[in-house]
Amino acid sequence: MHIENIQKLQRMLDLQQKLNDETNGLDWEKGITKNGKIINWHRCIYMEAVEFIDSFPWKHWKNIDAEPNIENAKIELVDIWHFLLSEMLRVDYQKRIDNLYKHVIAVSYSQYSYDEKHENTIKMAEEMLNEATKNCPKINAIVSQFFNTCALIGLSFDELYIKYLGKNILNKFRQDNGYKDGTYIKIWNEKEDNEVMLEIIQSNPNLSSDEILNRLQQEYPNGNT
Ligand code: MG
Ligand code: MG
Repeated sequence: MHIENIQKLQRMLDLQQKLNDETNGLDWEKGITKNGKIINWHRCIYMEAVEFIDSFPWKHWKNIDAEPNIENAKIELVDIWHFLLSEMLRVDYQKRIDNLYKHVIAVSYSQYSYDEKHENTIKMAEEMLNEATKNCPKINAIVSQFFNTCALIGLSFDELYIKYLGKNILNKFRQDNGYKDGTYIKIWNEKEDNEVMLEIIQSNPNLSSDEILNRLQQEYPNGNT
């Protein structure tokens, strides 16, 4: 189990490295893209943390009986995870993968008292946001706050893995199938592409990225109606 999770962490780090190399150029670790844009992963993290908090009905003056959108909150955590992986790669934190993994297992899902209003969840996300806005944010602290937030919302490591993998591979599939020029088809036989993706991964979590891409290509409507 331990080994398996380490492999999942490693696979996500590898996929993120590849994604960053492709989209930002091979020198993105120096803090600048191939197009000369400055990269600030901490800013990416705290802006997504704001989106996370916005998944909860925190406003005291508006829609005060609204339900929290937990599914969206999980998606925002997966967004944060992309940027956190990137920052870990940038500072070579991934070389201490056992150390990183300790944060995953340090999260005991039972140690948190689930509060209905999610006040603890929002507070934990705010701690992460706070750390990310500092002059010298501590990666250790952010990783730990991130997994604590996952625990509070009930996002298990396995679910994080499947959702991350799905999003990463789907991004590539969309790029390869006309996403930029607008010809991409998002609804396949009345299902959204990301639903199809999750079904493929859940049916066989051991598929390689290429195998998943092949399956997607088979399912893709190809414009035939
Ligand atoms: Mg590089
Ligand atoms: Mg987002």
